[in-house]
Amino acid sequence: MKPAKTTYQLPVPIEEFAQAILRWYSRNRRNLPWRHSSDPYRIWVSEVMLQQTQVKTVIPYYERFLSVYPNLEALAQAEVEEVLDVWAGLGYYSRARNLHQAVQKFVREYQGRFPVEYEQALELPGVGRYSAGAVLSIAHGLPYPVLDGNVSRILARYLKIDKPMKGPIVEALWSMLGKVVRNPLVTSRVSEFNQGLMELGALVCTPANPDCPNCPLSQSCGAFRDQSQSSLPVKVRRSRVVELSFVSALVRMGSKYLMLKNDEGPFLKGFWEFPRVEGTRIDDASLGRFQKIYGLELSMIFEMEPVKHRITFRKLRFQPFEARLLGNPPIEGFSWIQIGNRGFPMSAYIRKIMEQVE
Ligand code: SF4
Repeated sequence: MKPAKTTYQLPVPIEEFAQAILRWYSRNRRNLPWRHSSDPYRIWVSEVMLQQTQVKTVIPYYERFLSVYPNLEALAQAEVEEVLDVWAGLGYYSRARNLHQAVQKFVREYQGRFPVEYEQALELPGVGRYSAGAVLSIAHGLPYPVLDGNVSRILARYLKIDKPMKGPIVEALWSMLGKVVRNPLVTSRVSEFNQGLMELGALVCTPANPDCPNCPLSQSCGAFRDQSQSSLPVKVRRSRVVELSFVSALVRMGSKYLMLKNDEGPFLKGFWEFPRVEGTRIDDASLGRFQKIYGLELSMIFEMEPVKHRITFRKLRFQPFEARLLGNPPIEGFSWIQIGNRGFPMSAYIRKIMEQVE
């Protein structure tokens, strides 16, 4: 016998649920820069930036990005290195690469506009159900649901889902929200409804200490009823944290540094770095590795403070040092670069190292 299909239903009529969200949102919405526009491009950029990143971190990057690329055409004409450079510091750089690739597709196939067809939107690089639903509902008022981390947390608590939020459970929530947004009341105000749900998760149904007494859903919330908010959602087991250590050599010529472009993971492809080797200390072994891997014969001028950085589940530690180059620099793959020059994207860890120099 096949296992029963997972389905969910709201404990109250859709209209009641929706009214509670809409009323709350109209009184509590934050004044955020992307809420001043219904331009799909601006909304899309904000949604991409907000994936895995908090609002207060995103705001200055969003404003900077739009001042450099105020519209699709400007972004489409830029080189990907420049885009990565403007994005630098926000992390998860594949988002910037996908954004850039997607605008090329807009220009080639969709007359320079974000598609209004859901299926077409899903074909864009980096656009999944969440981003497609967010842009189409917020910019065009089309009845597509959104299920991001905030909404997922609200629903885990509201519906008292006591299993990890993955697989069939997530599918069942998409399906339930699909029905909710097709309700005529919700359809007519889907942009506010979707934003309201996400905003409620960001401001009230927060990961720690949700503000249940001020939540418009508290009367029908399963977790609030039996006070199980803090144990929901049930955590999905994360991959183990991996720790990696490197020694980075800063070879200076005037105001420029010897750098090379990375082309392998876990580091960011296309980003410029100081030459680095595995290791925790500047000693004969690590200096020998610079020679072996890059053909760089180095001696230490002085040791700098170590820098810590995190890329997803990897904890990285860099031991930088100012180095003297003995002999000629290798030519292939290396360039002398002024830090901060446009067109040479660099990871945030390089900036952390440079804070000790500037
Ligand atoms: S009542 Fe509390 S747990 Fe339930 S949805 Fe609202 S904030 Fe979240």
